[in-house]
Amino acid sequence: MKITDLAIHVLKSPLSEPFAFSQGWVRQRSATLVEVLTDEGISGWGEAFAQGLEPPEIAATVIDKALRPLLIGADPLDTEVLWHRMYHMTRDYGRKGSVVAAISAVDIALWDIAGKFHGTPIYKLLGGAFRTRVQPYATGFYRIKGRGEGQRLAEEALRHFEAGFTLMKVKLGYGVEDDIASMREIGRAIQGKPIRLMVDTNHAYGRAEALRLGRALEEHDLRWYEEPVVPEDVAGYTEMRAKLSMPIAGGENEHTLFGFRELLAAGAVDIAQPDIGSCGGITAARHIMALAQSHGVQVNPHVWGSAIAQAASLHVIAAVPVAHHSLYPQEPVLEYDRSSHPFRRELIQEPIELVDGWVHVTDKPGLGIEVDRATIDRYRAG
Ligand code: CA
Repeated sequence: MKITDLAIHVLKSPLSEPFAFSQGWVRQRSATLVEVLTDEGISGWGEAFAQGLEPPEIAATVIDKALRPLLIGADPLDTEVLWHRMYHMTRDYGRKGSVVAAISAVDIALWDIAGKFHGTPIYKLLGGAFRTRVQPYATGFYRIKGRGEGQRLAEEALRHFEAGFTLMKVKLGYGVEDDIASMREIGRAIQGKPIRLMVDTNHAYGRAEALRLGRALEEHDLRWYEEPVVPEDVAGYTEMRAKLSMPIAGGENEHTLFGFRELLAAGAVDIAQPDIGSCGGITAARHIMALAQSHGVQVNPHVWGSAIAQAASLHVIAAVPVAHHSLYPQEPVLEYDRSSHPFRRELIQEPIELVDGWVHVTDKPGLGIEVDRATIDRYRAG
């Protein structure tokens, strides 16, 4: 089998109501999708993670100009060989960011092809499923005004709970006082309900503020505190982990085993969060999983992309071992972004559904998804 071509699709969808996370206002959702085609009629889908403020054209150009020439004529089943080829040939201008996201998209598509070729779901190719159902957590609590939205956020928490979520991640990073006030209102609203919260500041603060917030939130018994400081401040992460009682999570803005080596060697995180569409794909996730296991750190993938990224994330989550085995271990959970995103609901035939508060991992070959080309045409940019 040989790769004959790559089709690149850049999608954009303006939001009817822009929302903010700590780094800025998101006015559209976008996606960089790739379809790897072969001479045997099998094709695979992949996605490069496009952060809310990131132009999706960057990864699309990398795939088109830099990766395509490395792939045409290659055997798509050589996932490891091709990963190293793509990484080495982009090293001097890549290693992080959108270049590695582009590699991720291609890599996910190659695993989709491999699964279809072997007639087996990707998690089987990764060594099998430790779990075939995963608990999702609601990511939301974005701001539509900015500050002082505690009451609306508290109502949102109750809506997630009614939809079946008992785990929720609150976006913070709008100023420590506003963050504390919002959490107080949310905490009051969910009191007595079986709900566990996480928080995510998207690296809004320096160490002193991040610590002050963390200390003020100790009473909430958080499942984790995500991206407390900027990804470059690995020593800051280590300090948070030493001084705060809740688990520290991070890694969505880190890439490949080389990047995660820094985080893990420094003892920076309790929970490593590679994004499969950004860390280097499923091949890189496999490297990171082995590395994290050797450091006693739980891998819990981050996902904020389309239905393709969600599917890739679910296969990896199925195949992630727990870091600390016991009768009742802490299992990885699926990030389920609840913001408006047509590429999640409309891009594939059977979007992820909650069944009694759980998401089931498909056992169909490859990613196990059927992409709706009409949706791609509808949201195609340019
Ligand atoms: Ca995050």
